[in-house]
Amino acid sequence: MAASVLAWYDANARDLPWRAPPGAPPPAAYRVWLSEVMLQQTTVAHAAPYFARFITRWPGVEALAAADEADVMREWAGLGYYSRARNLIACARAVAGRGGFPDDEAGLRALPGIGDYTAAAIAGIAFGRRTTPVDANIERVVARLFAIGEPLPRGKAAIRAALEPIVPERRAGDFAQALMDLGATVCTPRAPRCAACPLRGDCAGFASGAPERFPVKPPKKSKPRRVGRAWWIERGGAVWLVRRPARGMLGSMRALPDDGWSAQADGSAVPPIPGAWRSTGSVRHGFTHFNLELEVDLCEAARYPKLEGGEWWPLARLDEAGLPTLFAKAARLALAARQGEKAA
Ligand code: SF4
Repeated sequence: MAASVLAWYDANARDLPWRAPPGAPPPAAYRVWLSEVMLQQTTVAHAAPYFARFITRWPGVEALAAADEADVMREWAGLGYYSRARNLIACARAVAGRGGFPDDEAGLRALPGIGDYTAAAIAGIAFGRRTTPVDANIERVVARLFAIGEPLPRGKAAIRAALEPIVPERRAGDFAQALMDLGATVCTPRAPRCAACPLRGDCAGFASGAPERFPVKPPKKSKPRRVGRAWWIERGGAVWLVRRPARGMLGSMRALPDDGWSAQADGSAVPPIPGAWRSTGSVRHGFTHFNLELEVDLCEAARYPKLEGGEWWPLARLDEAGLPTLFAKAARLALAARQGEKAA
């Protein structure tokens, strides 16, 4: 199986900016680590421009270790899951402090923000170790290949156990990347292209006639809904932005002031300053454990409003504020409402 998967990979590998071509010397651990952290909960297409910007600005782990934390957070804005960015800096500093990445899974796992999967991916891809990283693509391919019927997340152990014996001694990193590519381009979630698959002859899922049944997913739980309110306060071509507390959701990121997302839809939240407030509508944003509906209210500030813990940010440079996606959506809504008011 490994030989046919590797032969397929040699001809069909995706050309990704953090990769080395099939069979070439492996990429630097820094590139593998950075890409894997970015790709957690993020698509390849979304992560690629961020990866390019990071590599240009901080070409090695020492450069990232020496970076200003606010600069890194600003470059990360829009990738979500901001605790990853904070761990990224902590990890870069730990690696620079020890003179480079450890080359095995145990050493990698001891670093900030590196879990089992990322440790296995780096050890396999950058250091050629025989590891079993299981991301969503590999999980799907292996669950189908062996028709593993145990529902996730319990089924993960069975998937890893089935994968382990087929990992080759040589080119283990290429093998892992080959399975990732196979899952992304051939063994796709809804309509696997089994006719083009090098594993077809060995695949129990294909033989069952309904491979898309695997992996078996647990029933979906509906996410709770939370309601919040954010305030757009404008004065002389600038908007009032605050820095969120370091701990908690979107920690340390710039944002509009808000009510902690506990406001009731009846408008009970109290704005930071008195004024002629009007609602612009609301934006929706999905977090891992809840969906948020954030109403955005706006007003113009009096000449010297009593505000603390933030800064007046020029509207013309709003793109450079590094607002996380939720607040970038809220800002777009407020700006559109302001434009509408001026046109009326
Ligand atoms: Fe997936 Fe089909 Fe290949 Fe099996 S044969 S691994 S189901 S694409």
